Amino acid sequence: TEAVYENIEKMDDQIGAFLALGKEEALEAAKQVDEKGIDPNNVLSGLPIGIKDNLVTKGVETTAASKILSGFIPTYNATVVERVRQNGMITTGKLNMDEFAMGGSTENSAYKLTRNPWNLKKVPGGSSGGSAAAVASGQIPVSLGSDTGGSIRTPAAFTGIVGMKPTYGLVSRYGLIAYGSSLDTVGPFTKTVKDNALVLNAISGKDEKDSTSYRGELPDFTEGIENGVKGLRIGVPKEYIKEEVKEDGVVNKVREALELYKKMGAEVVEVSLPHTEYGVPAYYILASSEAASNLQRFDGIRYGYRAEQTETLEDLYVKSRSEGFGLEVKRRIMLGTFSLSSGFYDAHFKKAAKARTLIMQDFDKVFEEVDVLIAPTTTTTAYDIGGKIEDPIEMYMSDVLTVTINLAGVPSLSIPCGFSNGLPVGMQLIGKHFDEQTLYRAAYAFE
Ligand code: GLN
Repeated sequence: TEAVYENIEKMDDQIGAFLALGKEEALEAAKQVDEKGIDPNNVLSGLPIGIKDNLVTKGVETTAASKILSGFIPTYNATVVERVRQNGMITTGKLNMDEFAMGGSTENSAYKLTRNPWNLKKVPGGSSGGSAAAVASGQIPVSLGSDTGGSIRTPAAFTGIVGMKPTYGLVSRYGLIAYGSSLDTVGPFTKTVKDNALVLNAISGKDEKDSTSYRGELPDFTEGIENGVKGLRIGVPKEYIKEEVKEDGVVNKVREALELYKKMGAEVVEVSLPHTEYGVPAYYILASSEAASNLQRFDGIRYGYRAEQTETLEDLYVKSRSEGFGLEVKRRIMLGTFSLSSGFYDAHFKKAAKARTLIMQDFDKVFEEVDVLIAPTTTTTAYDIGGKIEDPIEMYMSDVLTVTINLAGVPSLSIPCGFSNGLPVGMQLIGKHFDEQTLYRAAYAFE
């Protein structure tokens, strides 16, 4: 834990991954682990972990990178924070992100810019950019992020590390500041596949405090990880590899990986997810609608920021929200409120909900024939800071390979698979609901 803080001191001026540190408490927790002795049956015990700033941490400022939550000190821990601590892990700081997890580059943080450790002129991806950059730069071995439409996988791909977006419901959302509640998931960032499975073991499973959390039995996600891919049926969605990817180097690396899988005994077939093109519009309508509703609680009364010199209660609400929310968050609130308003609901929200069902059916159908899907995680490698932020449509379109997976609720693991133009390329392994084990096994064989 001391070494982590030394690293942060040395490096984080350049990278910009951390928002708050909670150093005293972390050193105290580490001391307690030292006194008790490392648990020989739990490899996670004593290991430092960073936490995305939309997961609440008792006593440590939690803002979701929004000005509207500045100064908010939670009185309780998110379930995932409790669980990593129960496993002896030391929570060593809060990580930068796009405000309320809305974005794909971490440029929407109200507080600071996070840079890609491979090239400081490039974005680290988002919205969990701080979580990814902190691990990729070696400041910390493990972190937690959240993924509503790609926010774990995109930054994992852009920074060359391993990021798991689990099945919806596998990991409790209690204490995750809600963005799109029917899409939100929490998952780990690590440098290796096996580490990732170990952390998922620690955080997943039933939680009384989250009614959508999975109640069934769970396997040990590391079990069988070394069994290889002989006989595994891999589907390659043609829409994901031919049509949407903008950078040849990305396609080439994924194709090379597929060749390797064939050599290792897997069967590789082309498949189709025909409703992919509706993914981005459906996602942005549904996610924004849920966000508009979820963000109503930030009214200047209950948490964080409150505007000064207001006259009436309404004035206080309006000013606090106008000053507290950033541009992208306001855009989503407008879009979501519009999509849900009477007169537009049928044309927008309802249509998007129908498109979501079609996308889910695409996945159900394809998983009758294959065990996993493999595709690039992103359409390009990391782009320049400032490169897309002025053009929201371009920014939204760059999520085309990740959002459908959240709409369907299936798991997807992004792992590094080489370099293009000197930057890491990410490949995602997409699985059936609750079949994370197969994803780890297939990823481990490649790694
Ligand atoms: N880029 C997407 C968005 O802005 C996904 C973000 C996420 O997964 N939290 O909504």
